[in-house]
Amino acid sequence: MSDCLFCRIVAGEIPAKRLYEDERCLAFADINPQAPVHLLVIPKQHLASTAHTTAEHAGLLGDLLAAAAKIAVEQKLANGYRIVINTGPDGGQTVDHLHLHLLGGRHMGWPPG
Ligand code: 5GP
Ligand code: ZN
Repeated sequence: MSDCLFCRIVAGEIPAKRLYEDERCLAFADINPQAPVHLLVIPKQHLASTAHTTAEHAGLLGDLLAAAAKIAVEQKLANGYRIVINTGPDGGQTVDHLHLHLLGGRHMGWPPG
């Protein structure tokens, strides 16, 4: 989608610090990091949110989680990390292209705000 910020990052039209890429997923540094490590893991294919997924996306969702776990090892987050997916207005989603936040490098509080 040409008017989607993250699709434009996938296409290389908007610069981002790209840290991991495979056939279906891309990970890049969040522009406004909330932890020492804060990456966004996204599908290269446009998908608005988890609310737009069906059973046919199960493989892709698994790939995103597996990519995040692999990146966590690369980022040396052996002490743990948090994966967050915000969905819709109440979930705090601000970019309508599905993304996993991978946060680490500090202790995470609970419950989230
Ligand atoms: P959400 O609030 O939708 O869960 O997360 C969107 C995330 O995208 C935010 O953490 C925000 O800092 C990040 N973000 C917004 N615009 C850009 C951008 O242009 N580049 C990068 N790298 N991250 C962005
Ligand atoms: Zn998109």
